[in-house]
Amino acid sequence: MASWSVVITVVPMCLAHTVGIATVVFDFIMCGRAVVQRNVGELMVADADNMRATFIKCNNAYFEGKLPLPNFGLVHRYDTCAYFHYNYDRWFGCKFYDPIIQFTDYYDFTEKMFVDLMCHEMIHYYLAYYGIDRKVKHGKEFNEMADCLNKKYRLHITEDYDKSTLKRSADAPLLKYWLSNLF
Ligand SMILES: [Zn+2]
Repeated sequence: MASWSVVITVVPMCLAHTVGIATVVFDFIMCGRAVVQRNVGELMVADADNMRATFIKCNNAYFEGKLPLPNFGLVHRYDTCAYFHYNYDRWFGCKFYDPIIQFTDYYDFTEKMFVDLMCHEMIHYYLAYYGIDRKVKHGKEFNEMADCLNKKYRLHITEDYDKSTLKRSADAPLLKYWLSNLF
């Protein structure tokens, strides 16, 4: 049996709001249902709990709950912010399995950035899961879906972001991350 793993893309995000200013934001109300509520001034370092909670909120708010819960993981990299990848059995029924979304714990994201990043990876997941784009690229399908979500929900999903403005996590040991990026 042969299988191959595909993927991944990641996107550094821009710091869209001034750190320290806590502003409660309510997203659009679609179909009479309030969507994600977030405090855009608060910072958050990725962990298993906030990745899972953000995924569930975004899945219900923006993806009609159509995505099964994937696995979540952390990476310790400063050159990327998040990844999506999965395994794929092309010999036995084209089975799609083991989807995983990973965030780096190197940066302290705003909650808005965290949501945008999660949605970015969820678009890759959606396109791969439904067989629309299993190469996990930023092609026509990705951009159309990102544009649609951005307009509909005031998100800021893009292919790439300026990482230079991101705040490093206070707990991020530089040597550890530097070594991680060598391999
Ligand atoms: Zn991507």
